[in-house]
Amino acid sequence: MPIDASCKQDHGVFKPVIDRGRCEGKAKCVEVCPYDVFDVRRMDDADFAALSLLQKVKSVAHRRKTAYTPRADACHACGLCVKACPEDAIRLVRA
Ligand code: SF4
Ligand code: SF4
Repeated sequence: MPIDASCKQDHGVFKPVIDRGRCEGKAKCVEVCPYDVFDVRRMDDADFAALSLLQKVKSVAHRRKTAYTPRADACHACGLCVKACPEDAIRLVRA
């Protein structure tokens, strides 16, 4: 994917944070991020345990898939993932 010209921040200033109660693991963020920040995989046990009962049911229905940000320090704060996420599950915060 080409690098988006609107990525004005240096990397390492902002990073994406995922709301695990909302994320359904459908990987729009993986598709749109020009810096390959995201991976979608099975939710860690500790993160799953922190969900509410309703969120656990929803997560199991999506085979416990969720997005992680192993390369968060590469984020340039372009906002493409925030716009693309159908569940409104991504926030950009100061790193
Ligand atoms: S686009 Fe949103 S709902 Fe989909 S995997 Fe990424 S964070 Fe989760
Ligand atoms: S704002 Fe989102 S899409 Fe843009 S570089 Fe950061 S993680 Fe990737």
